[in-house]
Amino acid sequence: MSCTQSSAELNVVVVGAGLVGALVASFLAKRGHLVRLYEYRSDVRVECSRGVSIDLALSHRGREALRAVGLEDEVVNHHGTAMKGRMLHLRDGSLKEVLYDSVNGNCIYSVNRTHLNKLLLSAAEKHPNVSLFFKHKLIDADLDKGTLKFVRTESREIVNTEADLIIGADGAYSLIRRTMSKRPRFDFNQKYIDHGYVELSYPRGKDEKYIMSGNHLHIWPRGEFMMIALPNDDLTFTGNIFAPFKTLESLNTPERLLKFYREQFPDALQLIGEEKLIRDFFQTSAKTLVSIKCKPYHVGNKTLIIGDAAHAMVPFYAQGMNAGFEDVLLLDHLMELHHGDLDKVLPGFSDARCDDAHAIVDLAMYNYLEMRDLVAKKSFLARKYLDDALNWLFPNDWIPLYSTVTFSRMRYCDCISNKAWQDKVIKRAVFCVGIAILAVVTAAMISSVQI
Ligand code: FAD
Repeated sequence: MSCTQSSAELNVVVVGAGLVGALVASFLAKRGHLVRLYEYRSDVRVECSRGVSIDLALSHRGREALRAVGLEDEVVNHHGTAMKGRMLHLRDGSLKEVLYDSVNGNCIYSVNRTHLNKLLLSAAEKHPNVSLFFKHKLIDADLDKGTLKFVRTESREIVNTEADLIIGADGAYSLIRRTMSKRPRFDFNQKYIDHGYVELSYPRGKDEKYIMSGNHLHIWPRGEFMMIALPNDDLTFTGNIFAPFKTLESLNTPERLLKFYREQFPDALQLIGEEKLIRDFFQTSAKTLVSIKCKPYHVGNKTLIIGDAAHAMVPFYAQGMNAGFEDVLLLDHLMELHHGDLDKVLPGFSDARCDDAHAIVDLAMYNYLEMRDLVAKKSFLARKYLDDALNWLFPNDWIPLYSTVTFSRMRYCDCISNKAWQDKVIKRAVFCVGIAILAVVTAAMISSVQI
């Protein structure tokens, strides 16, 4: 990242000190702006409240953003657990390894959400021009004027403030986005999928070893539903069962739950243990999964939404946080390009980002089908091996979809069109081979008739 100071120092309010809000605070502070970060919940470094998903898979886009604030090494090498591929737990009890990138050996990294959030907050706080305000809930904002109203969650005291720039990093249920949605020409599309998830944990292995391979993302694909498990650096695993709500709701007694696990995931049941499974499963109710597309992401020269506030997606491409971190890289790039001129930076952000964000929201939805069903099919594996072979032969020209999304900064829209082009090439090649075989067979038949 270039650290050229913007032409004018801005008074910035970031709403939401989740992963993306905490990161953007550091980037803006490095540019010399005065940043105030307001968060509804308490400081996660002091009081740890249980939020969504314990583990996250970090990949290239997210790593690049962390590198820019000097955190990549700490997150990846000291707290991340490398996952080199998927380990499929098939119905017949067998295991199948499917590497993410057999040509270059790229991995994704399992990182602990709370730990990452703590690191990002501490990194932001190191800047003397950043102030953090916890237990402050945004309740109202005038996005044109840049005024905001917060309530202190403990004392119920109202805090009014104003900013030159408001950054809404307040997550999937963003109040800033809801306020934007009341404005004319704001496109908004929200979809809850019929499937929910329950988080489960796997105990530490004995003798300082994981209970199953510690460098894979484990998947139990079962068609309509699936389980996954990600390794943690303390030798445990955290997993989720994703399934239609009707399936999850039918598992309403310990007996039904155990029967289901004995039938569908006997190996996982053995690893988790019956008592622990029952405890974890009934501890909370199944959580929903929402996908949100909207446009634009800015209001005038005062307000911008980023991260899940702008593009919440289902978690199946493991790109929600990575895309949110890439938003921050884009914002920083535009700040540099336009010397901090918000009249250009904010519309420029919407122009550059909306289509890409919509593309990854769609890809994430598609990937659920791939993970829970297609990965176990021979046709999927055949295509994967073909892609890998072509990638090996033409490393710069044939990059599989998963690699462009996960191991590159290719625009998400271009990832989709690149895949569409590859599909077309393969279809044509298959067609040509088919015609050639037909021609040979026909020629052979004609010559045999003549004889
Ligand atoms: P959040 O993390 O939601 O943070 C928003 C913050 O704003 C919160 O702290 C909230 O308290 C605060 N806030 C909200 N409203 C207000 C208000 N009114 N006033 C003040 N503060 C407010 N992504 C990946 O890249 N890889 C993965 O492997 C991955 N796995 C996932 C698994 C699951 C099960 C789920 C649900 C998501 C997963 N994601 C993953 C997505 C990832 O969690 C999100 O994309 C990421 O957390 C978005 O960060 P954010 O800062 O934009 O939003």
